[in-house]
Amino acid sequence: MKERVVYLDNNATTRVSPEVVQAMEPFLGDMWGNPSSIHTFGGQVRQHLGHARERVAALIGAEPEEIIFTSCGTESNNTALKGVMLTRDPGARLITTAVEHPSVLNVCRYLGSVGFQIAELGVDGQGHLDLQQLRESIDEHTVLVSVMWANNETGVIFPIREIAEITKERGVLFHTDAVQAVGKIPVNVQEVPVDLLSLSGHKLHAPKGVGALYVRKEVKLVPLLHGGHQEGNRRGGTENVPYIVGLGRACELAQKHMEEQQARVAALRDRLERGILQSCPGAQINGDRTQRLPNTLNVSFEYVEGESILLLLDQLGICASSGSACTSGSLEPSHVIQAMGVPFTAAHGSIRFSLSRYTTDEDIDYVLQHLPGIIRRLRRLSPFVKE
Ligand code: PLP
Repeated sequence: MKERVVYLDNNATTRVSPEVVQAMEPFLGDMWGNPSSIHTFGGQVRQHLGHARERVAALIGAEPEEIIFTSCGTESNNTALKGVMLTRDPGARLITTAVEHPSVLNVCRYLGSVGFQIAELGVDGQGHLDLQQLRESIDEHTVLVSVMWANNETGVIFPIREIAEITKERGVLFHTDAVQAVGKIPVNVQEVPVDLLSLSGHKLHAPKGVGALYVRKEVKLVPLLHGGHQEGNRRGGTENVPYIVGLGRACELAQKHMEEQQARVAALRDRLERGILQSCPGAQINGDRTQRLPNTLNVSFEYVEGESILLLLDQLGICASSGSACTSGSLEPSHVIQAMGVPFTAAHGSIRFSLSRYTTDEDIDYVLQHLPGIIRRLRRLSPFVKE
């Protein structure tokens, strides 16, 4: 372990909060019963599963019966998209965007390969959809529209209320991948009437490996996992009780810390942004700065490789992430940054900083102390920069 860790990669995963660990502990110990059992020992565990369901539902304004527990955000997205489309014959149409997470995009591509029609809508330079284009894209074959609530790389927030109105008007279902939004900004399915909504525990200080899917009462879907009668026959498999209890507690805490996310964390992010723009040559922000998650900053450094910046930051114990898909063996800039039309010279140097309620003033000072020197050093190595 490095001496100092400044963790600014909270859109990748978050620290499990100590309160969540504490809530989970009894279910890794004495309370190990099966929530589906008839006996009292299992029944006690079932009660806690119920409380967790109420807590998750409360955070997003849903009814507890509308929550299906899953193993992750990816499973929630798979269940929503395959689950709805498989109630229809091939030929039915699903509309999504070019900037979704791979757990939506690759499901859509799979559904396309087995005969469904898929439309991927592009975005503009700010990362926004053209709502008129969305309207025109909905035809008589369209069953489902899937648009993320907020983008994981840029933090750009989509106009989910307007999209929900359009889909309602046209009588098609609307799924939103709200994995990055839930816990960071208010998300309420009564105020914004989406039909299906995905969330994931490890993005809001619960452990990795637990998620949930909200399914509005009247929506029919085929289970992804056929099996027992768990989760109202919508997801077979004995529930992961400790993690679900952890998710419930994390949702309660997220509600409590929501205002802080929007004020203190946003102020720290803005200070980081201002500091970078003032002190780093060639820095530019990717995505709309006004419609954005309070914790996310995506910045490009012209003529500098994102991976080189990350490596030098890592040597100082600073964790951030790059928009480019280097980990998948490709040096292509990320599909999100490319879809926004960011010029190649900047797209390669895109870095995402994502904060959480555990981020401190000192963390931001430390980054601002070191990053400008790193950028200057790397730009000097670029054959394209004459300074
Ligand atoms: N959707 C978005 C927008 C994400 O950012 C992520 C994770 O990065 C996922 C879905 C997948 O969630 P999980 O890691 O729980 O499968």
